[in-house]
Amino acid sequence: MGGAMTAMEAAGNGRTIYDRWLDAYEAAYRDQGALQRLACPTCGEVALQLVFVIDAYGDGRATSAFWCKKCLWGIAPNSTSVPSSATAVLRGEEEVPDYRLVLDDGR
Ligand SMILES: [Zn+2]
Repeated sequence: MGGAMTAMEAAGNGRTIYDRWLDAYEAAYRDQGALQRLACPTCGEVALQLVFVIDAYGDGRATSAFWCKKCLWGIAPNSTSVPSSATAVLRGEEEVPDYRLVLDDGR
C-alpha cells in the first residue's frame, strides 16, 4: 500500500470504491431484499442487480453477477453457493448486460 490517496479513497474514509462494492455485494448476498435499499457505490442510484447463474436446475453452485443497471458498473463474476433466499437463473436465460468492472485498485 502507500502512495497518494485517490479522491474516491478520501471520500470513503480510506476505503476504496471496490471495498464498498464488496460491502454492497455481501449485504445483497445475505438478503436479496437489500437490493431495494442499497445505493450503487459508483453512482448512488438504488439500481443494483444480483443474479445467480446456474448450469442446471438444482445446482448449489452458481456464478454471481452483481452490477448497477443505471451506470453499468459492477464487480467481476464470482463462483459462489446460491443463498437459500435467492432465485437462480439457468445459464443462457440470464439477462446480464456487458457491464464495466470495478477493480480492486479503485480505478
Ligand atoms: Zn450505479
